Amino acid sequence: MQWSQQISFLTVEVTANAGNTVGLIGGSEMDDLQMKSTRLYDAIDARRDDLIALTRDLIRIPTLNPPGDNYLEICEYLARRLKKSGFGVEFVRAVGAVGDSDAYPRWNIVARIEGAHSGECVHFNSHTDVVEVGRGWTFDPFGGELHDGKVYGRGACDMKGGLAASIIAAEAFLQNYPNFSGAIEISGTADEESGGLGGVAYLAEQGYFAPERVQHVIIPEPLNKDRICLGHRGVWWGEIETFGEIAHGSMPFLGDCAVRHMGAVLDEMENTLFPALAKKRTDMPVVPEGAKQSTMNINSLHGGANEPEPDYTGLPSACVPDSCRMVVDRRFLLEENIAEVKGEINAVLESVKAKRPNFTYELREVHSVIPTMTDRDAPVVQTVAAAIRDVMGVKAELVVSPGTYDQKHIARIGRLKNCIAYGPGILDLAHKPDEYVGVQDMIDSAKVMGRALETLLTPRN
Ligand SMILES: [Zn+2]
Repeated sequence: MQWSQQISFLTVEVTANAGNTVGLIGGSEMDDLQMKSTRLYDAIDARRDDLIALTRDLIRIPTLNPPGDNYLEICEYLARRLKKSGFGVEFVRAVGAVGDSDAYPRWNIVARIEGAHSGECVHFNSHTDVVEVGRGWTFDPFGGELHDGKVYGRGACDMKGGLAASIIAAEAFLQNYPNFSGAIEISGTADEESGGLGGVAYLAEQGYFAPERVQHVIIPEPLNKDRICLGHRGVWWGEIETFGEIAHGSMPFLGDCAVRHMGAVLDEMENTLFPALAKKRTDMPVVPEGAKQSTMNINSLHGGANEPEPDYTGLPSACVPDSCRMVVDRRFLLEENIAEVKGEINAVLESVKAKRPNFTYELREVHSVIPTMTDRDAPVVQTVAAAIRDVMGVKAELVVSPGTYDQKHIARIGRLKNCIAYGPGILDLAHKPDEYVGVQDMIDSAKVMGRALETLLTPRN
């Protein structure tokens, strides 16, 4: 999960049709389905030890990214497991993708099982990579230790616990409904933590998320088991450079200071752009509240001579800086578009240029991601919301992430809009020391996933 840490969520109520009714069933059919669901839930409860063992095994394969260790090993582990459950598996290496090399090949796995009748395909996508360990651990980060109902380790909640829950959900469903309609897919993909280009983006380019092949996608990221994430805001990164003229620092009037020019840009941003961004509110249920508008971060600012090497102990030289560079990270809303975002930055620069002699600049785009949000009444949203109500007796919270995750590739490259993030684990624990996932959280979310499969893939007559 790439989004910023320490996010707390607000409640957004499911707008329509989110109760036990799911719109299509009633009366005795409903009782019948509830009886079947109880059998499915029992089957998931019976797999508790298996779920714990699976989660521990996955954590014990250290898939650190960067650099991208052990992707083949984890794909092989998943292949052995899923073949036993009747899935056909494909290994897909993202040849030529950013980060792929013979030393660190970007391996992905896509497993699929066809039902007895035609129908829709439900796809569970989990990334297999984990971020660096960092300091402050009291548990072995790759030990998968079970303590007090929690499994500890790097990637426990982000997101090997979610991957394990989806596998258990699918296996329990298959045992109960051998004659189901449609298909189930489970993928384990590389590189989400570094942008997903060697993972979901690559698979999407190869057609794995085409709407003709897959109709519903659930990404079991750690969002807390009663929340559904509909999507994320957009990203635009730009680098602005201002220019000056080098001269001796004791006679700055003989040169032209690029940093002072950039100061004028910052001034203009403070006076015009930041107040304008604060007024752009969104209807997306973004959390936390502060991210429910357009935002911009100044990522970095550098002017003058390069920073000296760490082992240099002398003083800097006296020079007027002839270049100043600034990287801005603009997060934008569904209600905006990239042209508008770039236009605002251009307007700031042109306004400074009009007022300031000798002002010259360049603007370069570094990176961009369009915002995406699945409709609140999309089938996968309504199905999972109803399943949350059925399993936990609570109303699902619908949220949108301030930062991006792999859904961007599924929506943009794959053209598939019926996609959500839903999975066990506490979001705030992602990337932290002593990361864990609660066993009961995994059980409950596996029941939600199993119930979603039941709703989408079992004939109603
Ligand atoms: Zn993640």
